[in-house]
Amino acid sequence: MFNATLKQLSALLAQKKLSSVELTQSCLDRVGRLNPGFNAFLTIDAERSLAQARAADAQIAAGKAQPLTGIPVAHKDIFCAKGWRTSCGSKMLANFVSPYDAHVVEQLNAAGAVMLGKTNMDEFAMGSSSETGFWGPVKNPWDRTRVAGGSSGGSAAAVAARMAPAAIGTDTGGSIRQPAALCGICGIKPTYGLVSRYGMGAFASSLDQGGPMAKSAEDLALMLNVMAGFDVRDSTSLERPAEDYTRALEAPAADRAKPLAGLRIGVPKEYFGGGLASDVAAAVEAALAQFEKLGAQRVTISLPNAGLSVPAYYVIAPAEASSNLSRFDGVRYGYRAPEYGDLADMYAKSRAQGFGAEVKRRILIGTYVLSHGYYDAYYLKAQKIRRLIAQDFAAAYQQCDLIMGPTSPSVAFALGAKATDPVQMYLIDIYTVAANLAGLPAMSIPCGFGEGGMPIGLQIAGNYFAEAQMLAAAHQYQLATDWHLRQPVGVE
Ligand code: GLN
Repeated sequence: MFNATLKQLSALLAQKKLSSVELTQSCLDRVGRLNPGFNAFLTIDAERSLAQARAADAQIAAGKAQPLTGIPVAHKDIFCAKGWRTSCGSKMLANFVSPYDAHVVEQLNAAGAVMLGKTNMDEFAMGSSSETGFWGPVKNPWDRTRVAGGSSGGSAAAVAARMAPAAIGTDTGGSIRQPAALCGICGIKPTYGLVSRYGMGAFASSLDQGGPMAKSAEDLALMLNVMAGFDVRDSTSLERPAEDYTRALEAPAADRAKPLAGLRIGVPKEYFGGGLASDVAAAVEAALAQFEKLGAQRVTISLPNAGLSVPAYYVIAPAEASSNLSRFDGVRYGYRAPEYGDLADMYAKSRAQGFGAEVKRRILIGTYVLSHGYYDAYYLKAQKIRRLIAQDFAAAYQQCDLIMGPTSPSVAFALGAKATDPVQMYLIDIYTVAANLAGLPAMSIPCGFGEGGMPIGLQIAGNYFAEAQMLAAAHQYQLATDWHLRQPVGVE
């Protein structure tokens, strides 16, 4: 049952072979047993979850089930959920209980999904390893001495260890795709504006995007159907007709032996240079060969400014973060220093004590690049590079339909290995941040194993609103391969 896809679970629930209460209880039991080893969940509230499960069972009995009705989903602790502690992985919000639901949470609740709990993350989603959070690191289910990736590492580990059938995360520069890759699961960052940011802890508002994490492309499609949608409360939410992301998956191919005939896959030559580990390169090569076998055509493309994406991102993201995090001042909510002098001292002490080192580093960088005299040299220049990166993609999508390459330059590294070297940590975002800078959709799916038996992710990126096409291509790959079905050994 823990290996079942969302579709299979939905069928079991519909046939009354399983109730949502039974399913939720067994997930809670598994979390109780496994979570101490992985630190993937921060908050569990069995009573609340089971109450939702009972309501879901009533919906099913009344014949009103939707595809996700009764299915437990783990929520990254960055999504506000009414009555649940929502800490964003920070001491600053360690006791913050949200008075309202994020749009995504409302949508999942309305679809009958059961909230299984809140998952661990890097503090305010700043990180690539899920080690910067207040409650300690998430451990990778494939090897507990290694990182789970970040910042949605708790959600990735929860799905990889089969504690949750699916989860939700956020991706500002790779935080859905990179932990998905490092934990051997699937995740998609949708086109900017497709999923509402209302009620999602703000890191860098022009880059942040919520999305699903699950075992297969098909499961991602089911989740995205519920998560996507216009919301007036997010000024950058896009108003467009709803799409059924599962439809393209089910469409019969004209040529069954070559279901991807006609699909042009762009492979950026810049992605295979120095810095890419040989095991990752080999697995990605093999995946590309598999796509060719399925009928796709491989085209070499160029993204000339790819190398500038990390420097541009690490100016723009901290700039926006420094502004977004100014709201945490110890006045209305969040941590307040127990002792202080005047008001300014209260702000200073509350922020000094409430934020961790990485968050402070980002605030300092962000404030610096926005300050008078440096704005033109850093922030404005980064914005110009951002435009060039978007133009590179626009030119590339004249030649191809999807772009594929590695998600992460290496498999999961040892806990602590990069924790003291922020630049090394930032550099592992080399393949993921460009999609956020351009607002484009991108996903990661498992495509093999490398050093130490650790999972490797293939990144599949598409043009604006190409989610259905990306998911359909990934689905064909998953029909022909079984990397996504492998599970961590010894995690029973
Ligand atoms: N690793 C990147 C960062 O630290 C991206 C994080 C994210 O996507 N939230 O900013």
